[in-house]
Amino acid sequence: MAGGILSILIFLSFFTILQVVVQIIRQQKHLEDETLRKIVDTTIKDEDNYDAAIAHLGICEKCQKRLEEISLE
Ligand SMILES: [Zn+2]
Repeated sequence: MAGGILSILIFLSFFTILQVVVQIIRQQKHLEDETLRKIVDTTIKDEDNYDAAIAHLGICEKCQKRLEEISLE
């Protein structure tokens, strides 16, 4: 029974952490055109905050749309 409660607690804290992470990424500024272009051209490097850019792109419809527009140019 104790194991069941522990699983629920682990699940709840995981969910809370996940929400905080999503919030932090959401609050991040939108990606620069230059960054989006680098993603399209696959010339983006680690120093361009590649991971953060991809994470932001994963949840931001606005930047996804702009990335699509840039790739069509
Ligand atoms: Zn964005």
